[in-house]
Amino acid sequence: SDSTTGTAPTFAVTQNPAPASAAERAHRMDSQPFGTVFTDHLAKATWTAEQGWHDHRIEPFGDLVLHPGATVLHYGQQVFEGLKAYRWADGSIHLFRPEANAARLATSAHRMALAPLPEADFMASVEALLTVDEQWVPSADETSLYLRPMLIGTEPCLGVRPSRTVEYVLLASPVGAYFPNGVKPVSIWVAQGYHRAGNGGTGQAKTAGNYAASLLPQQQATDHGCDQVLFLDAARDTYVEELGGMNVFAVRRDGTIWTPRVTGTILEGVTRSSVIELLRAEGREVVERDISITELRDGIADGAIQEAFACGTAAVVTPIARLVSPDHDVVVGDGGPGTVTMALRQRLTDIQYGRADDVMGWMR
Ligand code: PMP
Repeated sequence: SDSTTGTAPTFAVTQNPAPASAAERAHRMDSQPFGTVFTDHLAKATWTAEQGWHDHRIEPFGDLVLHPGATVLHYGQQVFEGLKAYRWADGSIHLFRPEANAARLATSAHRMALAPLPEADFMASVEALLTVDEQWVPSADETSLYLRPMLIGTEPCLGVRPSRTVEYVLLASPVGAYFPNGVKPVSIWVAQGYHRAGNGGTGQAKTAGNYAASLLPQQQATDHGCDQVLFLDAARDTYVEELGGMNVFAVRRDGTIWTPRVTGTILEGVTRSSVIELLRAEGREVVERDISITELRDGIADGAIQEAFACGTAAVVTPIARLVSPDHDVVVGDGGPGTVTMALRQRLTDIQYGRADDVMGWMR
């Protein structure tokens, strides 16, 4: 492709000679946990300093061959995205705001000194992979095909500098309903002594190291009987930032809805932006501001905050039932899913699954 003109490249297709049978697909989708089942193909493209992006291709799914000195393995030079393809009742397949993921991948790439993938290449890769793996997009209620694009530095170089070769790889993994037995509110543990991101760091980039750093605090959340970890800002250990993989909102008794403002340390979720737009379109006041953990805790305790929810591509909109730390344990509302939260979840999934008009023009 010519990354300067934005012309969509063509992906040369090598078919998988032994794709999974329909029975195998169904069996794997039903029996395996999230993120462990993959489709029959990968989309790839290669970047070199000399040639730019080239060799756009679809290959049979298989292992990557990496030099042990590749920069991604030593210095974490990696960025990724997460989005879903939804099958509508008429059988057609739709993406939710994929341009937003293409844009965030480019922003993340910039921060990690990786060559950004042009939006036209991103969109063409998704379309090419969905064409060969179309049958992997499930049709049962609340299921989807999760798409995972990534960029990795592949040049063998133990010197700390940006890789002069980059590989783009797009994987796809069918996912079942996040809450197969009905939406279950989550409990969240306030991270103690660990932060996700600092000022000027990589918090707003979707890069591997952020998630590696979140694993230990997430383990501590689990050890304390909680589902998810909530991170506070690193500078003052005071302000609510986000969960390990979701943004957070609080619904207040006065009718306003609060969410932490984007400061450079928070990942700006596509779901977060969509939720803000939907709520504002309904005439609700959404306030992006600093929210201290005390304000959140006291608001929950005294009822000024009636609902809280987390949001992201994986779980869409998920009610938060409890906020726990060594010195407090407060229950949000009556601990059940709130009405604003559940209406919002319904509103968003109705658009994604084509059950409601796409008034925002988000679906592709
Ligand atoms: N925060 C973090 C740290 C995440 O990993 C994610 C998931 N991408 C989100 C928020 C939510 O982002 P999105 O709505 O784009 O999935």
